[in-house]
Amino acid sequence: MNKNFFKVKKKCGFSRLSLVSINDKFFFTPVFMPVGTMGVIKTLSSYDLEILKFRIILTNTLHVFFNINKKVLKNNINIHNFIKWKKIILTDSGGYQAYSLKSKIIHKNGIIFKNKNNNINLTPKKCMNIQTKIGSDINVVLDECPENYNDFLSVYYSLKLSNKWSIESKKFHNKNSILFGIIHGGIYPDLRKISLYETKKIEFDGYSIGGLGIGENYFDFKKILKYIVKNLPSNKPRYLMGFGFIKDILLGVKLGIDMFDCVIPTRHARNGFLYTFSGIVKIKKKKYALSKEPIDKKCICSICKNYTKSYINYLFKIKETLAYRLCTIHNLSFYEQNIRNIKRSIISKNIYKLKLNGGK
Ligand SMILES: [Zn+2]
Repeated sequence: MNKNFFKVKKKCGFSRLSLVSINDKFFFTPVFMPVGTMGVIKTLSSYDLEILKFRIILTNTLHVFFNINKKVLKNNINIHNFIKWKKIILTDSGGYQAYSLKSKIIHKNGIIFKNKNNNINLTPKKCMNIQTKIGSDINVVLDECPENYNDFLSVYYSLKLSNKWSIESKKFHNKNSILFGIIHGGIYPDLRKISLYETKKIEFDGYSIGGLGIGENYFDFKKILKYIVKNLPSNKPRYLMGFGFIKDILLGVKLGIDMFDCVIPTRHARNGFLYTFSGIVKIKKKKYALSKEPIDKKCICSICKNYTKSYINYLFKIKETLAYRLCTIHNLSFYEQNIRNIKRSIISKNIYKLKLNGGK
């Protein structure tokens, strides 16, 4: 992989506008990656995503392994061909699922996951091999997320295990893609320091920040994030895993984060929870049944140009799947419009004056 795949083009304080070029594909940061855990952004086609101007999506190594037949991937060469997405794919390793899924056994060499069809012993080597077979452009190391983030020793042992797996992941990584390490350590500055030191020593192409957003208060979150970013290399991309409220994205960018992902805009869309420039719209509420207005007058998406709140409210009432699709398009477009505003404010060097209203 070209060592110069990441170039910072503009700076405003700690915020950066950067170009990431991988395998003849590219995207600019700050970037929000829609989450397609199983290789699909629910209700959308890859064509829809291109219209929405996304250049990178996230999918999950473990879920793809469990759900897509290996022969299908082989017959299609990789997941890009199968799902008809020619742009960049980042694959999360599956380590987070050791935290979120119940049927698993964590051991020193990896994680055994069980589901009704098959079991998998996800070792760093296996994890890297699957990401290679998928054809992922950005690989992420296998990590372990401790269940008890409030226990210093549990977090310590977990980060030592993640560090061991990080070294092994680097060893088995296919050089046609780039590889991100993950900084752990929960809310403990001492542990974050150890994780930073050990992860940087391995020399990854980019650095993800894990283990935040799982119940810590906002003050701790901000303090830890600031500390980590300050100590990461300035010439590598930085990715804050799983963060997706607009206000978190803006804060992250102001501190120097480049990449974000979250299920929030798509999951909330399917529940009729819409983001607008004037706050949240809960479209299923009765008060919208007769509204001739669009979801958001200021939004430039195709849904706001063509449909009324009344119609979308009606689609939810009759449980029509088109409702999920229209709302997903709006929420993702809303995110993309906000990210565009953030980029513009970096270029015009006034990000510290920028205020975004994305709800929560
Ligand atoms: Zn819209």
